[in-house]
Amino acid sequence: MHVTEGVIVSLERGGGSGAEEVDAAGLLILPGGIDAHVHSRDPGFPHKEDFATLTAAAAAGGITTVVDMPNTVPAVENVAVFQEKVEIASSRARVDFALWGLLGSESRPEDVHGLLDAGSVGLKAFLGYAIRRSDRQVVYTPWQDDPELEAPAGSGAIARLAPDLARRGAPLAVHCEDPDILRSFARRSRTYADLLASRPALAEAVAIASLGVISQRTGLEVQVVHLSSALGLAAAREARRAGARMVLETCPQYLWLSDEDAERLGPIMKMYPPVRTGADRAALIESLRAGLIDRVGTDHAPHSDGEKLGRSLDDALPGSPGVETLYLSCLELARRQGDVGAAARWVAEGPARSLGLFPRKGAVEPGADADLLLVDPSAETVVWAAAMHSQQRHGCLEGQRFGFAVRSVYSRGELVARDGEPVGRAGRGRLVRPER
Ligand SMILES: [Zn+2]
Repeated sequence: MHVTEGVIVSLERGGGSGAEEVDAAGLLILPGGIDAHVHSRDPGFPHKEDFATLTAAAAAGGITTVVDMPNTVPAVENVAVFQEKVEIASSRARVDFALWGLLGSESRPEDVHGLLDAGSVGLKAFLGYAIRRSDRQVVYTPWQDDPELEAPAGSGAIARLAPDLARRGAPLAVHCEDPDILRSFARRSRTYADLLASRPALAEAVAIASLGVISQRTGLEVQVVHLSSALGLAAAREARRAGARMVLETCPQYLWLSDEDAERLGPIMKMYPPVRTGADRAALIESLRAGLIDRVGTDHAPHSDGEKLGRSLDDALPGSPGVETLYLSCLELARRQGDVGAAARWVAEGPARSLGLFPRKGAVEPGADADLLLVDPSAETVVWAAAMHSQQRHGCLEGQRFGFAVRSVYSRGELVARDGEPVGRAGRGRLVRPER
């Protein structure tokens, strides 16, 4: 393979004169990973994470593009905030990044078009989450009547703005849990069973079915993020059969864990939507194998240790870091399915295609960015908090064994990590814009 100025120019063997050569004997050469779903917490929550620690973890794990969700502070709801966030990320990132914009209940068409013009990969709606007027923070528990909060984003705002998004060919990512069902089922989480009962899979299925109808009627492409249940999966299949345009994303936590892990992991496993049963897990794994799920993203959502570890299940904040273990966890899952190459479809080609970044990202071919990793298929990695690079080191895949090790990671031809340790400099990452 030959790389010039960060771009792959040919896949032929042998070096040209003056070329720096890399020997990859015995190693797999894979396209750099794209995590379509991370929460950098930057700007807004430096005690949880920022683009420097996020992308150190990403680089170490073979993720060469992170796609950040818009619930930073202030929320990325217009072009001015988007530009500020690009500046911040550019100054700290070790790998490339793309950004989602926010669709809130009071978003205007000009906000949507401004965000897309600026290079947003699409918009994200958090069903049941509302923007606080004072600091433009996206907050949860929106069903308490609070004049400080705008109305939560819901079917109204989505239906109103769907034609604008559809006309631009831009997707809407949605956190799919029906807020009214969550409100009706709400209860304290003394046990993990309580947590599961308070956020039933039916809430996911109802949200997906309703978005399916909006998609059919408006042409909107809905991207269901962090799909967690067999019921939600069934709703998505029915929506697609009826003509909805629907991209599906699931996460390693739903593919590796079930409610049986709750006792071992405690508050670390608290996530929204929750990790459900072994049957849900099996259905998601089978759908991934069958190609019904388009990508695996992490929903990387770090908090400080004090917000997670020392708290009861009820008081712990929802979310877990995950970007660093995404690629390895998918390689191991793909190996067990007898097709190691499938991992590159789930974490590189799939996200690149669904976000309009393909083939500049997510491909190993002439003309693509030289975002590459070399992986040793005869080594083993055990996930261990002390070896992680996110600011919150305790992730929900702690202790899992993967039969691979990431050796070298290149972003646009530049070495950004070696043997699980980031190298090189922060502040070299660039904004990646979709092509539609
Ligand atoms: Zn998320």
